[in-house]
Amino acid sequence: MPETSLGSWLQQASQQLHQAGLDSPCHEAQCLLSHLLQKNTAFFYARPEFLLDADQLQQLNVWLQQRLEGQPLAWILGQWEFWGLPLKVSPATLIPRADTERLVELALMVCQQPNARVLDLGTGTGAVALALKKERPGWRVEAVDFKAEAVALARDNARSLKLDVKIWQSDWWQQIPPGQYDLLVSNPPYIHPNDPHLMQGDLRFEPVSALVGGKDGLQAYRDLLAPIQLRLTPGGYLLVEHGYDQAGTVSQLFSLAGLGSVQGYRDYAGQPRVTVGCRNH
Ligand code: GLN
Repeated sequence: MPETSLGSWLQQASQQLHQAGLDSPCHEAQCLLSHLLQKNTAFFYARPEFLLDADQLQQLNVWLQQRLEGQPLAWILGQWEFWGLPLKVSPATLIPRADTERLVELALMVCQQPNARVLDLGTGTGAVALALKKERPGWRVEAVDFKAEAVALARDNARSLKLDVKIWQSDWWQQIPPGQYDLLVSNPPYIHPNDPHLMQGDLRFEPVSALVGGKDGLQAYRDLLAPIQLRLTPGGYLLVEHGYDQAGTVSQLFSLAGLGSVQGYRDYAGQPRVTVGCRNH
């Protein structure tokens, strides 16, 4: 294979990604190159003539091919950033979404207790729990996932980031020892099984168990809410992420479970995305 300059590889890779219909072809090509060379985009602009050797080219083209076949970029890179934290990702869990940072932001806003006891339900990579612990080192943060692979991944991420988060394996509340939390957060599976989005983009590859919320997309909320009066301290908060069209139903479920001050918030794209409720004193 002849040597190719970094600039010309970027150009042809971007073009192929563009033809495959991807939204940010240049950015994606740069991500692949950055991952390989461990250099940032400034280097690419400064040194477009930098030559890639045959091994480097081969590796890049393998990744490019995987991406053209639809593999999520996050999996090819093996890590994804959430709340500024580099998280390892795997096919066992959902890839952390930028919109879920809204859940973190709102949790930090509503809970003012310096030593709050916190639980993230359905943690996947550990994203939400780790972001909260990073921001509030005084909080006692725990997280739970029902999948052994997700638990191992979240523990691995906690270890690499040196964040002290206790991670349980449990199907929602089942294995969590009795006790109450000041703050509960969750980005559960909430997609309706017939939603055509499941056939598009990264969702085609991510685990159904992390995406689909039972028969009507809402089962996870019912499971989370069932013991809520036993699990929240008086004055404690529950925050959940949900689909853009689920705010009304989720807020009804919150009220039916006896939570008060139920309020919805929008994500960065302006869609209703997070619902917050409080256990009355
Ligand atoms: N927000 C994700 C999506 O629609 C789904 C996340 C989830 O099911 N928790 O791509």
